Amino acid sequence: MKSFIPYDSDSDFSIYNIPFGVAVFEDDTIGCVSRIGDTVIDLTVLFENGYFNQFELEENIFNAFTLNEFIELGKSVTVPMREHLQSLLTEGSELSKDEETQKEAFHHISKVSMQMPVHVPNYTDFYSSIEHATNVGKMFRDPNNALLPNWRHIPVGYHGRASSIVISGTPIYRPIGQSKPKDSVTPEFGPSKRMDFELEVAFITNSFTVMGERVPVDQAEDHIFGLVLFNDWSARDIQSWEYVPLGPFLGKNFGSSISPWVVTLEALDPFRTEGPEQDPPVFPYLNFNGKKNFDVNLQVYLQPENGEENLICNSNFKYMYWNMAQQLAHHTVNGCNLEVGDMYASGTISGKSEDSFGSMLELSWSGTKPLKLKDGSERKFIEDNDTVIMRGWAEREGKRVGFGEVTGKLLPAKF
Ligand code: MN
Repeated sequence: MKSFIPYDSDSDFSIYNIPFGVAVFEDDTIGCVSRIGDTVIDLTVLFENGYFNQFELEENIFNAFTLNEFIELGKSVTVPMREHLQSLLTEGSELSKDEETQKEAFHHISKVSMQMPVHVPNYTDFYSSIEHATNVGKMFRDPNNALLPNWRHIPVGYHGRASSIVISGTPIYRPIGQSKPKDSVTPEFGPSKRMDFELEVAFITNSFTVMGERVPVDQAEDHIFGLVLFNDWSARDIQSWEYVPLGPFLGKNFGSSISPWVVTLEALDPFRTEGPEQDPPVFPYLNFNGKKNFDVNLQVYLQPENGEENLICNSNFKYMYWNMAQQLAHHTVNGCNLEVGDMYASGTISGKSEDSFGSMLELSWSGTKPLKLKDGSERKFIEDNDTVIMRGWAEREGKRVGFGEVTGKLLPAKF
């Protein structure tokens, strides 16, 4: 398959990807878009010029502020629509000869401003990497008994805050709050001193389900439209003081950043792989068939103000102990309903090696092993005006499908 739109061989946005997003164009209009290489495709124009006529939609679904209405059409429509778009962007297609439409619909990525791709009604964060859960357990609790007894039975998660999920590039303010230093009996109040990122991938659901209904594990993927990179910013000092007994709260809800391009589950299909063996065996409602993990390389870079990018983490989405189908089956097993645009984050994705840990907490081992940066400075946690950049891509047999990046700069606390 070859597109008539040229792009570099290392582009995340090859003809095999065809992701979806929302962009503001130079004339200040907004709409749903796709992308090949550095070319952003205004889907509203393609729709209006008749390129989606066979789908018999009454209204232009792409002329919208978010992808929610498109996603809600479900896979029976969105999958063939994406495949059709892919064929339109292939050499020799009708669109390849229609220069008028290309002129109207194609924009260079530098000329558009990417927006939140979906309205997010609900956000859940899981805790599904066994390496991460073990590392945190060792540091926060007991080095000899790090994994809590429930962990291998339950895809542990908590309900996060949807309002503060923001698009890549949005600055994040260092949060202020309560914490208790280890050597102190009483808590203190002020800007967090242990600011962190969490390397995660989040999936977005495409359906409204009814309260009381479950999503069976073998149908769960039908409810997943696509995925984004997710930086779950975390204030470790606030978190460790507040989290007992009800879990994360203000150490987490001040901001989470996502990448702008939603990569569909179908685009990631060639990169399926086996997950880690699950022992002990899981309950039947979590028992799945087939390959439910995905081989997606993940990287984190830290960039000081006016400085160079430093690669600080090399991880992979395939390390997840609990997969997305299990997470969704578990989330709904009690009858909890899904909504279109819901975001379900994986939890920090750490691997076994020390360079694959997906947070500063683990990389610097709670501040005891500072990271050395190219400019000679050290980091235990994130400093003011540091930018955190996460990148993710899958590659097999010359076919590359990636997410691009999610970036966010940490600004000093706002008093
Ligand atoms: Mn998290």
